[in-house]
Amino acid sequence: MSYQDTLLLIHNEWREPTGGRWIDVRNPATGSTIGRVAHADRADLDAALAAAQKGFEIWRNTPAAERCRLMRATAALLRERADRIAMLMTLEQGKPLAEAKGEVLAGADTLEYLAEDGRRVNGRIVPPRAMNTQQQVLKTPVGVVAAFTPWNFPVNQVVRKMGAALATGCSILVKAPEETPASPAALIGCFVDAGIPAGVVGLVYGIPAEISSYLIPHPIVRKVSFTGSTPVGKMLAGLAGQHMKRITMELGGHAPVIVCDDADVALAVKASAGAKFRNAGQVCISPTRFLVHNSIKAEFVAGMVAFTQKIKVGDGTQPGITMGPLSNPRRIDAMEKLVADARAKGAKVQAGGERLPGAGNFYAPTVLDDVPLDASVFNDEPFGPVAAVRGFDTMDEAIFEANRLSFGLASYAYTRSLRHQHQLAQQMEAGMLWINQPAAALPEMPFGGLKDSGYGSEGGPEALEAYLNTRTVSTVMV
Ligand code: NAD
Repeated sequence: MSYQDTLLLIHNEWREPTGGRWIDVRNPATGSTIGRVAHADRADLDAALAAAQKGFEIWRNTPAAERCRLMRATAALLRERADRIAMLMTLEQGKPLAEAKGEVLAGADTLEYLAEDGRRVNGRIVPPRAMNTQQQVLKTPVGVVAAFTPWNFPVNQVVRKMGAALATGCSILVKAPEETPASPAALIGCFVDAGIPAGVVGLVYGIPAEISSYLIPHPIVRKVSFTGSTPVGKMLAGLAGQHMKRITMELGGHAPVIVCDDADVALAVKASAGAKFRNAGQVCISPTRFLVHNSIKAEFVAGMVAFTQKIKVGDGTQPGITMGPLSNPRRIDAMEKLVADARAKGAKVQAGGERLPGAGNFYAPTVLDDVPLDASVFNDEPFGPVAAVRGFDTMDEAIFEANRLSFGLASYAYTRSLRHQHQLAQQMEAGMLWINQPAAALPEMPFGGLKDSGYGSEGGPEALEAYLNTRTVSTVMV
């Protein structure tokens, strides 16, 4: 299958960049250039904003049932095209084809859920204090949304934002990732082909900082949604704050996994190793800090090491591959620094710990044991295939360590004890806690972080709430 250049989408037209500038796209499994993506200039951004403003006027006046129908039609197209979109994603991002296809199909599921939820955006009537008065609470769309999405889940990160924005009647201009541009463009193509009115969705690429610093303060944009790293998120949130824009921030994490002495250790290994090495660990909810009761730590580490030996690392387009390359060379550098630092501070490298030979960005699935708390890997988000393990003796000690960092996105625990489960549910400072299971980021469940991991939620009814204004209308009948 050929990988074609990715264009801008403005007013339902696929356009070349007015300034004639393009950015190269590389395949992380081979290091070779496979195509280009259009680099938007100021004129393109102005045209995209004007289109989004017109699109908003049309879409806010489109009945919720019709919006739902169009979104469901888009989901159907996404399913039909899943194989082709998955191949684009694997070529540009690296994950194995099966994972890429799973992401596209999950995107269709998310769209359908959010589309249906959009039909249930109800206001309310509040009993008045005088009988000639009617008091209404209205839920209306925020307006034009600017969305910034990262390269680790090129489709899923876009779908969550588009689904919620469109279900509520907002229009949305997406700045998708330049490193993985074709699969999100193919997703957005499904909306166009399903018949969404011009301007309701738009797509641009370029220099992220240039685009965000222009779009966020722009008066046409009323809401900003960003997924990416905490430092960038804080900067964008600051800018949005200066211009009083609504925001949703899905930022980094450093997910603790507490494996208690009464855990099913085989389940803990299977579920957390699978989750750890999915997408080569480039997942914001990836389990990263493994806190394992000292009585079972040796068994747990042996299980993790055995799991890594079964992982087949390679080009994700090839059959049988279960872990692809890291998406860009920055991640390889980061892994090398984290592992060298942990080694120097006394951690034991039980598996992996090195870059794999070849042209692509391949790094071995890695298990580090007895990692000291001051090692960088126990403090900075690894965002790669490295599991860092250390022991604990008491639940209080484990929960204290889990909550030590400023991140608060995902967390995990393995225990059969109801008492432990209750304590964890009460005390873990994380937006999501999964007990005795890997992450299940279902569209019907809230998805979001606390503390430095951001605010707002991209699942459940809260997902739509983030794109709605709540307004009071009170009328005295005269
Ligand atoms: P980065 O911090 O440079 O970029 C992260 C994302 O933000 C990218 O998609 C990038 O295009 C975007 N971005 C960067 N500067 C921006 C700006 N000024 N305006 C708008 N968008 C901007 O780092 P990176 O090397 O691309 O990714 C590595 C780190 O990013 C990881 O360590 C991880 O913490 C984080 N990350 C998080 C997620 C997530 O799902 N939360 C996804 C991808 C990356």
